[in-house]
Amino acid sequence: VPGFEDQRVAILGLGRSGLSAARALREGGAIPVCWDDNPAARDKAEAEGFAVADLSKPHALDGMATLVVSPGIPHLFPAPNPVVAHAWAAGVPVDNDIGLFFRALANSGWEEFDMLPRVVAVTGSNGKSTTSALLHHILKSSGRESQLAGNIGRGVLDIDPPGDGGVVVLELSSYQTDLARALTPDVAVFTNLSPDHLDRHGGYGGYFAAKRRLFAEGGPDRAVIGVDEDPGCFLANQLSEGPTDDRVIRISSGQKPHGPGWQVVARKGFLTEWRKGRQLAAIDLRPVRGLPGAHNHQNACAAYAAARALTVAPRQIETAFHSFQGLPHRSERVAESGGVSYVNDSKATNVDSAAKALLAFRNIRWICGGLQKEGGLEGLRDGLANVTKAYVIGRDAAGFALQLPDTETEVCTDMATAVSRAMAEARPGDTVLLAPAAASFDQYDNFEQRGIDFATRVRAALGQS
Ligand code: ADP
Repeated sequence: VPGFEDQRVAILGLGRSGLSAARALREGGAIPVCWDDNPAARDKAEAEGFAVADLSKPHALDGMATLVVSPGIPHLFPAPNPVVAHAWAAGVPVDNDIGLFFRALANSGWEEFDMLPRVVAVTGSNGKSTTSALLHHILKSSGRESQLAGNIGRGVLDIDPPGDGGVVVLELSSYQTDLARALTPDVAVFTNLSPDHLDRHGGYGGYFAAKRRLFAEGGPDRAVIGVDEDPGCFLANQLSEGPTDDRVIRISSGQKPHGPGWQVVARKGFLTEWRKGRQLAAIDLRPVRGLPGAHNHQNACAAYAAARALTVAPRQIETAFHSFQGLPHRSERVAESGGVSYVNDSKATNVDSAAKALLAFRNIRWICGGLQKEGGLEGLRDGLANVTKAYVIGRDAAGFALQLPDTETEVCTDMATAVSRAMAEARPGDTVLLAPAAASFDQYDNFEQRGIDFATRVRAALGQS
């Protein structure tokens, strides 16, 4: 990262991205000063020869050119991080690895030689990882060089940006977009918005403040925006200068296409692209195994639109859809036997995402439960119509089961029992689905471990290891 020669730069948080920021800054001639509350992380930085100093001490930030904050550090909610607050008060600019990346690109000098890669930033409440991974897959399978980075894939400062014609696909959480000082992608994608995200941004005002930087004034060449919720619709209308403005591609699942603007719509299992009132392409998504359910059809629209903004042909995108394997732990088909499908959606840690999973399949033998979040199970109601029986796990499996009065339930408590009971009762045409609607921490370290436990037990029982 250039621009900080011989200047001291404070690094808060020494995980993967913090350390890679420290290295990139040192390579550019800066003097990183690092801190992490965890002594083991500090030892690692010291072993690499970085200066370590407690940044929460008074005057620790004096003379720092910038404070670089790791994405894992909650800087504003539930309470402002003291080091970050101190930097704000002292007038020290606050940034993160994403901001440093855009800064480095802008100062790379590559533009002169027409060598800049195209950068796509994927944001939104849900579906970011799936959309980013799918877009990356489409680009690679159509012969474009692509790098996947940000929240998913590698740290953005660890990648070798591809050259001309290449693409960097960046998945960005709202924490990352909040802090990045430079945010200048060529294509900005906003998948959707769920109400809990509104709360975190302090309502619509905060939400628009966070999005405006990414999308408006001198913003990206193209903005792909989900318009199924009002805020997205409003944002799209604000950004487009007229009804045929090609800068905005509206994506929607469920709504009919309307008006002459550029739109990508998924309805009844078909994805269609529209421009100036004409239909340009249609893809049948129903046989696409890696993208089951309406929520994945929305992700398909987002990735399709971004790929079209990068001039990939519809036929190439369709071919890539069919070879997309999906991401681990998200509607992941882990086995198939005797007409029964086994699907791991361990990432469905809340009611919202479990509801989507239940709507994506029929005749479900549903493995659910765990550490429950606030708000009850009311949001699952429509999806429960697809559930034949629930096999409840978790320390409080009985309490969870009690909240499903109209569904046949069995309290299994542990995964071993749930898997063996569901497998014993499954009939051809059924789907055994792990979509817990709860966090995993009562029984596992994380949702990945829970998903692996499910898949391993299923495969072992089927004699497929
Ligand atoms: P993110 O990266 O935004 O967390 P993922 O692609 O990792 O999103 O998906 C996380 C969970 O959210 C999945 O388990 C899935 O059930 C649900 N999900 C995926 N895409 C969508 C979508 N477009 N709308 C609503 N829920 C979704």
